[in-house]
Amino acid sequence: MSDETGEVKAPAAGPYVHYCEHPGCKKWGSFGFAVGRATPNWFCYEHRPEWKKRNA
Ligand SMILES: [Zn+2]
Repeated sequence: MSDETGEVKAPAAGPYVHYCEHPGCKKWGSFGFAVGRATPNWFCYEHRPEWKKRNA
């Protein structure tokens, strides 16, 4: 028997729901950053990494 009442990260509203990956941050991750084919990392506005702007 196992009571799995531990902390479970479960998407609540679908694939478009992301939270900031900054440790301890529970804010909404509105900004997704992906390098190449890597899995996108999501951060809130405050913790978003410095995004290298493309020189269009
Ligand atoms: Zn954050």
